[in-house]
Amino acid sequence: MGDPFRIDRERMVEHQLKKRSIHDPRVLQAFRRVPRHEFVPENLRQQAYADGPLPIGEGQTISQPYMVAIMTQVAEITPGNRILEIGTGSGYQTAILLEMAAEVYTIERVPQLSEQALETLRRLNYTEVHTRAANGTLGWEEEAPFDAILVTAGAPQIPRPLLDQLAIGGRLVIPLDEDYSQVLYIVRRTEEGFEKERGERCTFVPLIGEHGWKKDPRIH
Ligand code: SAH
Repeated sequence: MGDPFRIDRERMVEHQLKKRSIHDPRVLQAFRRVPRHEFVPENLRQQAYADGPLPIGEGQTISQPYMVAIMTQVAEITPGNRILEIGTGSGYQTAILLEMAAEVYTIERVPQLSEQALETLRRLNYTEVHTRAANGTLGWEEEAPFDAILVTAGAPQIPRPLLDQLAIGGRLVIPLDEDYSQVLYIVRRTEEGFEKERGERCTFVPLIGEHGWKKDPRIH
């Protein structure tokens, strides 16, 4: 009712998600529910459901819908799971995780983006969320362990604190830089240690800070 983007959103689910490898009905349902156009700058609303990332200010982006979906699907989230997201950005991925009935902790390095995301989430009634403006490569130790950790920025290597804060049986999803591109990795913590699985190629803005890039590699 009163949502001019409902049809665009359904098309996004059909063409960008279902036709690719997104089949988890709970993930698809979350994408039908979250109004993506509310998470982009007002002048870009008409492009909110396009098949790509969009700028959100501060040199950062809201990720491509498909990338948000694949990360959510491989994280195998079930209701009540405790999730840590590194890189709140617009708050869109955060809202998707909240729709999956997870308990979400999210960290953003840029304070203005963290504040803006919290404002958007509150306005849309996503009030049960824990946000923090800090360097996420250190994780959120007081709230660990987490059932899943999603890193939505590209890292040179896996930050050790994030492995330490993963529950046994937990999943860490992280884009890692390889040569001139990035690859999405899924790391599972078992009783014995960690199992690393290579996923698909992807493109994310850099993860900056201790245990990440020391400075923005895009600036020379
Ligand atoms: N999940 C977001 C994606 C935002 S892009 C969305 O759907 O909108 C990645 C974000 O990671 C950027 O906002 C960037 O500022 C942030 N980031 C980069 N390094 C970080 C770090 N060390 N800790 C927390 N956030 C970081």
